[in-house]
Amino acid sequence: MQDKMPSHPNKKLFFFNALSRIIFLLLTPTIFRALNFGFIWHSIYWGTITLVVLIWGSMIVISPLFGRIGCGWICFAGTVQDFVSQTSLFKIKWRKPILVLRVIMIILFFASSITFFIINLNAGKISGIQFNPMFLDMEFNAHYKHVWLFDITGFILLGMLLERRWACRNLCWMGAICAAGASYSRLLPVIDPQKCNLCGKCEKDCLVRIPMVDYVKNNYGLVTSSECTICGKCIESCDRDAIKIRMVWSRSEYIRRMEMNQDSPPL
Ligand code: SF4
Ligand code: SF4
Ligand code: SF4
Repeated sequence: MQDKMPSHPNKKLFFFNALSRIIFLLLTPTIFRALNFGFIWHSIYWGTITLVVLIWGSMIVISPLFGRIGCGWICFAGTVQDFVSQTSLFKIKWRKPILVLRVIMIILFFASSITFFIINLNAGKISGIQFNPMFLDMEFNAHYKHVWLFDITGFILLGMLLERRWACRNLCWMGAICAAGASYSRLLPVIDPQKCNLCGKCEKDCLVRIPMVDYVKNNYGLVTSSECTICGKCIESCDRDAIKIRMVWSRSEYIRRMEMNQDSPPL
């Protein structure tokens, strides 16, 4: 029996995803200060709204609609981990994020940066919140190069040691906030249960190791994981063209229509 289906245009999604991430990775030495969410700490510290705050802030704002687009298409830290974690030392099938760890990281981040902001304010070094998109250009030109090297090395080591995107799932405060938004995301991978033969290839290849087959068995193929980065790798992996990424405006309506025994996803 011939299992393989003809290629679908959706298959190109991961090609564009890889292209986007390689471009951003190559750009990081020059635009690092605009793309590294770590510099948000410096921005709060100095009471300054910078470009990096605006960029990552917008990623958080759009996450309830477009999920973890920033994590999947821009963030150099995610890309670096993906490169090296294919052969990571510790492989764990799938484990949900450790929520306590996520909350601790968020609290540590904001508590420390806001504390320094208040200290600076009381010391008269700053006079409140100011808007200066290129602030880090002026203040951190030499500094950011070292931070870039430190970050790249750190994420390479984390990726080589731990399961895929463990650091993204558990340590990154930005990922945790985006995941909270993405739990309402309308942009989702959708698996057609009629086409899927539960082979598991998509979840094996998924850059975050999301248990896709479980979603076919228990959720009519609607992949609602807030860890999904909309990268499209699963689409490329599926020989049966069973996966698409679609806007699903109402998750409950989707499930209701699937329960009515439709032949394929109501999209
Ligand atoms: S979770 Fe954090 S480190 Fe990972 S891709 Fe998202 S923003 Fe980058
Ligand atoms: S959706 Fe995943 S499990 Fe289903 S056929 Fe495609 S690769 Fe296999
Ligand atoms: S489910 Fe698909 S689109 Fe989402 S992260 Fe995994 S491979 Fe990428």
